[in-house]
Amino acid sequence: MESGKLHVLFLPSFTPSHMIPCVNAARLFAAQGVKFTVISTKYNTLLFQTTIDKALELGQEISVHNLKFPSAEMGIPEGIENLSAATTLDILGKVHAAILQHQNAMEEVVEEISPHCIVSDMFYPWTVDLAEKMKIPRILLYPTSFISHCLSHNLEKYESCKSVKSDSESFLIPDLPDKIEMKRSQLEGYLKEETPFTKVIKSVKESEHRSFGLVFDNFYEFEPQYADYLAKVRGIRRYWTIGPLFYFSNKVGKSEKIADVNDSCLNWLDTHGTNEVLYVSFGSITKLSNAQLIEIALALEDSNQPFIWVVRKKENDQENQQESWLPEGFEERITKENKGFIIQGWAPQLKILNHPAIGGFMTHCGWNSTMEAMTAGVPLITWPLFAEQFYNEKLVQVLKVGVSVGAYLWNFSPVIEGPLVESKQIEEAIKKLMSNSEESREIRNRAKEIATLAKKAVEEGGSSYQNLLDLIAELKSHAFGVNC
Ligand code: UDP
Repeated sequence: MESGKLHVLFLPSFTPSHMIPCVNAARLFAAQGVKFTVISTKYNTLLFQTTIDKALELGQEISVHNLKFPSAEMGIPEGIENLSAATTLDILGKVHAAILQHQNAMEEVVEEISPHCIVSDMFYPWTVDLAEKMKIPRILLYPTSFISHCLSHNLEKYESCKSVKSDSESFLIPDLPDKIEMKRSQLEGYLKEETPFTKVIKSVKESEHRSFGLVFDNFYEFEPQYADYLAKVRGIRRYWTIGPLFYFSNKVGKSEKIADVNDSCLNWLDTHGTNEVLYVSFGSITKLSNAQLIEIALALEDSNQPFIWVVRKKENDQENQQESWLPEGFEERITKENKGFIIQGWAPQLKILNHPAIGGFMTHCGWNSTMEAMTAGVPLITWPLFAEQFYNEKLVQVLKVGVSVGAYLWNFSPVIEGPLVESKQIEEAIKKLMSNSEESREIRNRAKEIATLAKKAVEEGGSSYQNLLDLIAELKSHAFGVNC
């Protein structure tokens, strides 16, 4: 049998929210003496270059293999190499096509590198065939919640869900650990008969059982009832929770997550008291329409709550160059009263969430954002927009760690044009969470308790810590045929 150092290849897919957990997982493996290689592209690597530099400083054996992204061939502007960088639907479609075209080049490189194991993002189901061909284990990395898997599983399983006709009436998802109701309009992308999205999700699921195992960017104590339920109903025996990856890997790597951050917002936060500020951000992909941004601005101003607001807005088209996205005089007023800080671009989200002045987070419930907030003990105002975000909102409701703005419509597009959530509705949710009522104090306390659990999970002897060691031991045993 071959012996030596375990070499694991990490294949992140093309959005920041999938790249970051994958690279963080790589760093955790490296901290345990595993050699890792990440396959990426030039502009995507820039997103996690500091992480790589830090790993190198720590003497870890790492390499990044940058493949050429077929931008020019596909008519994509230079520098746009992932889905969240796309600014229009047209470019998004082209980037998506380029990613599919990229598969051949990736396969060739994986075979050339010849690792002991592939850890692949969920959106590369084809790696299961490649791993089979190379006779190596393939691990599927899920940056998703257990509740989202359980909900989607039961929606498919129970006819009573499929036969619901009304968009707006809530219906019960049967046979779950909690009583959970949803609306058809929140599930559109999952319930439609066959779309490119449902096809991809189907092949991701099919690749599960042919994988060596599943790794979740999650920690068991966060949603134990759903982890157990998933294992039971889907017969998933081999899974490891090794998260929160961003927290675990920063702890071992002693570094921040992302390069090029603008820290003036942190100085601004220093001018505010504990729990005073609301952080508003909808992740790395979503862009809101100008009309929706105006509603948010009105709500922020009327609530009188200090805020940091990360704005990713749609580009004005040719005819509407001057279309406004803020109420008149808004910026002057909030600056004069020291009430708000607007970030247009990439925000240092982890640093913001961990600042003592932050008392709440208005979020789209992307899984990374949800975990990051919970690990920082920050309660949520939930405003899901598409995909499993509506499922994650249900977890927030089950755990009673947030309040909802009451969004009910699936909006799968980089620019959210659907019906507006009106300012009054947003303002009510802000006041409910940020007030000093008994309800909001209880919500805050529960969020703090979850943060304690998250931190314990990655301490020596904690569940995620132990799972990581177990997983690496299994992979070594598979690679070298000995109990290491
Ligand atoms: N993020 C950030 N700054 C931003 C926007 C996003 O650091 O301005 C990070 C955020 O901390 C999280 C990820 O990008 O790690 C967003 O992932 P999530 O799953 O929440 O949402 P998605 O981007 O997939 O919609």
